[in-house]
Amino acid sequence: MYRSTVVAALAVLGCALAPAWAQNVKVTPLGGIDGEFCPQDRALIFEDANGTRILYDPGRTVAGANDPRLGKIDIILVSHMHGDHVGNAHNKAPNSGTCESPDMSVSAIPNSSAVNIALAKKSKIVTGSEMPPFFAAKLKANGGDPANSILARFGGSVTVGGVRIATVTAMHSNGLDPDYIGGDLGKAMKDAGIAGDVGLATGYVLRFSNGLVAYLSGDTGITADQELVVRNHYNAKLAVMNIGDGFTTGPAEAAYVINELVKPASVIPSHANEVGTVSGKVRPGSKTEAFVKALKIPAHIPLSGKTMEFDAAGKCVAGC
Ligand SMILES: [Zn+2]
Repeated sequence: MYRSTVVAALAVLGCALAPAWAQNVKVTPLGGIDGEFCPQDRALIFEDANGTRILYDPGRTVAGANDPRLGKIDIILVSHMHGDHVGNAHNKAPNSGTCESPDMSVSAIPNSSAVNIALAKKSKIVTGSEMPPFFAAKLKANGGDPANSILARFGGSVTVGGVRIATVTAMHSNGLDPDYIGGDLGKAMKDAGIAGDVGLATGYVLRFSNGLVAYLSGDTGITADQELVVRNHYNAKLAVMNIGDGFTTGPAEAAYVINELVKPASVIPSHANEVGTVSGKVRPGSKTEAFVKALKIPAHIPLSGKTMEFDAAGKCVAGC
């Protein structure tokens, strides 16, 4: 009697748990050095339970379109046009250079690494603001399909591959380096110290097919929208937050954003612009450590190549 009750209970639990486990969102950092969190690390792959794979801010640590870690890429997100996000240069291969002194020896000018990857993988590039015409023109100029550059401007959203994608405010700059323009115009702009206008920088809010809502900050300062829009409207449960200071929120400001404004269940720090870990452990005295210590919720360090899984509530359930 007892045994049959237990077996029946386990069967019920099994049925209840298996689908939930299968519906996790997988997050895999593509950083500079396997198992570490390094200065240039921005790139993350989000894999929906339905198989849709999204590359966020390829930056300089994805070794171009031939990086074997990429696999299938359905969607590329670019928060803004700065070279460490769109990828003006990149490493020769994964793990080339060191964590402290990364290899960024391969130029991706004038296309950008994001465009080169999109061309090779036939990915959609989903951006906000006024960036889509830039990406459409680059795709077209290189034999790709300009229709693969898709707009999601502030306040709206698009659903691609079963993932709902919206852009949100980022308090930052977004000048286009004239190197992407080239020719006499690009040279004249470069000489004058003027960048191209592609609208405002952005962050993203993604709603995955399991219901998980993730906020990707991009480069930003503290904004009222982090509470008013990201928390109150979208109810983000997982955040990727830039902590590098100088260019974006530093550890104290980023912790305030997470603790008091967004209030997700978990956060992944990003864009630390420092050696964040040594042998996979947070480096004492680092900005990464200061951020983690100031948080009221769990932080999950993005160790390159290490896949983490998040459930619909934003809880890390594997790989953390
Ligand atoms: Zn930036």
